[in-house]
Amino acid sequence: MTTIEDNLQQVRGRIATACARADREVAAVTLLAVSKTFGPDAVAQALAGGQRAFGENYVQEGVEKILALREIRPDAAIEWHCIGPLQSNKTRLVATHFDWVQSVDRLKIAQRLSEQRPVDRAPLQVCLQVNVDGGANKSGVTPAELPGLAIAVAQLPHLRLRGLMCIPEPADSFEAQRAVFLQARALFDELNARGLGLDTLSMGMSDDLDAAIAAGSTMVRVGRAVFGSRTAPPEPSNRPSV
Ligand SMILES: *Cc1c(COP(=O)(O)O)cnc(C)c1O
Repeated sequence: MTTIEDNLQQVRGRIATACARADREVAAVTLLAVSKTFGPDAVAQALAGGQRAFGENYVQEGVEKILALREIRPDAAIEWHCIGPLQSNKTRLVATHFDWVQSVDRLKIAQRLSEQRPVDRAPLQVCLQVNVDGGANKSGVTPAELPGLAIAVAQLPHLRLRGLMCIPEPADSFEAQRAVFLQARALFDELNARGLGLDTLSMGMSDDLDAAIAAGSTMVRVGRAVFGSRTAPPEPSNRPSV
């Protein structure tokens, strides 16, 4: 077994333990393996370990990997998620190649993605990125603007609004992590109370997935705990680079 396959088993164990503690079904939490900065071979190893959903931050790097995997593993049914900041000039690449995008925080970007989604593909699955803890220069729609954006995005024809994604600032205690995740959970519940029918609450990474699951996460996005530490670029990297 490769290290990556071994790591995957450990992460699945952590998810199972967190679910048991929170009295939740383990099947209610999806593992998204964040393969940014790692090459196609690393993805192939994770596939061998039973992983099917992968997240990429950088559009160009992600597209190259998607095409490479289509060559080396043509039969693998991989689900690709774009989780990085989105600029207008990259939306066509995202709409063409990805299955999901979790980092939508503006209507203009959502409209472009919908217009550019190829008609022969299933709707692009979308999560809105919400800036729960209010970091000033962070990506994400504010909680106040979230309902309006969600209602508008839900009406776009070639997108399917699935839920919310958030990346809180690192906090060192479980309770502090959980408190912020519970704010995201409350926003998610409010949108569902308005009838939006969301099923995805994407939150939790290598260092805080246990607290995220305790707060109701349905998808954890795990990079380092699966693939090992990244050398470059520095993280957290869900920020516009320009
Ligand atoms: C890099 C990244 C992750 C994974 O972070 P790790 O700490 O490596 O688990 C998850 N989500 C987003 C948006 C990221 O940019």
